[in-house]
Amino acid sequence: MKIEAYIHRVPLLEPFRIATGVSLESRTILIRLLDGELEGWGEACPSRNVLGETLEDSVESLRRAARLIAESDYSSLERIYEFVSSLEATSSVKAAVDMALLDLYAKSLGKPLWRVLGGYRDEVETDITIGIMEPGEMAERAARYVERGFRILKLKLGEDPEKDIERVKAVRDAVGEGVRIRVDANQGWSVEQALRTIDRIASYEVELVEQPTRWDDLEGLAEIRAESPLPIALDETVKTPEDALTVIRAEAADIVNIKLMKSQGILGAVRIASICEAAGVENMIGCFGESRVGMTAAVHFSQAIRNVKYYDLDCDLLVAESLVTGGASIDKGVRKTPEEPGLGRFSFRWDRLTRIL
Ligand code: MG
Repeated sequence: MKIEAYIHRVPLLEPFRIATGVSLESRTILIRLLDGELEGWGEACPSRNVLGETLEDSVESLRRAARLIAESDYSSLERIYEFVSSLEATSSVKAAVDMALLDLYAKSLGKPLWRVLGGYRDEVETDITIGIMEPGEMAERAARYVERGFRILKLKLGEDPEKDIERVKAVRDAVGEGVRIRVDANQGWSVEQALRTIDRIASYEVELVEQPTRWDDLEGLAEIRAESPLPIALDETVKTPEDALTVIRAEAADIVNIKLMKSQGILGAVRIASICEAAGVENMIGCFGESRVGMTAAVHFSQAIRNVKYYDLDCDLLVAESLVTGGASIDKGVRKTPEEPGLGRFSFRWDRLTRIL
């Protein structure tokens, strides 16, 4: 096989603020594996915040692993998982390799990837995320998204508990009933603040609360979950299948938010979903800042696996312009992959990608 890699870099529509910092752009690595007539695409979106890796680390680890990747075997799901698990590379690069090998595998079978992986549902409905702003600004964004057809909103909170309550109230007042609202504190509250804030926002019909406090405070998270009137979803706390087991043993989550960058790809994500399903814990799927390539892989996974029931698949919609098109479509919040083999077909603004391999 031949391997190519490209840097994809694009500014966001507007600065995106969460409790742990602000993002201004999406910076990712696209990889392409070529095997005769077939090509497989994957994408790495490194996160310093959650995974402790940078774009530079990831590029370097990809360069080091390139020869091994080019020699890898995509003849079965178990072999792909074995290979990706053993690879010495950052988590996001492993995710990109997993996607590209799965794209090749499904194409070699002539089937869409989601059908090969489980084939459970034809489409999914995503939320759209609103970063931390003044309550009025968040309400204005919320109304605009609802007008565009989105029926699920995800509000970033976790900055100041009193103001967070105002934020939820302002958004609920602006959109009325019938719109689902979920919130994500991104570790921003203490245990006491979380308990107080969750109690107060529960009166605005909030669907779930994500990562109320620090990722490593399992005891605190379990306490919040035991007391909370709303379901608790954990994101930063769970990266791998092993982390899912830990959280289940601690009884710290009602929902686990999977991201392909954390789980080292789709096959790690499938394992997290199986572990959670056995424990009666539901899954959500989210993203970091992937373009349409990584997003399409996440939609395939979401369509494939029954236990994945909450979809936060919007990061390719928050950029100022799309350098990648094709793959998973979006229509009023509903996402769907095309009836094409593998991940599907993509088009690229090649003039805007920088080849690094
Ligand atoms: Mg989150």
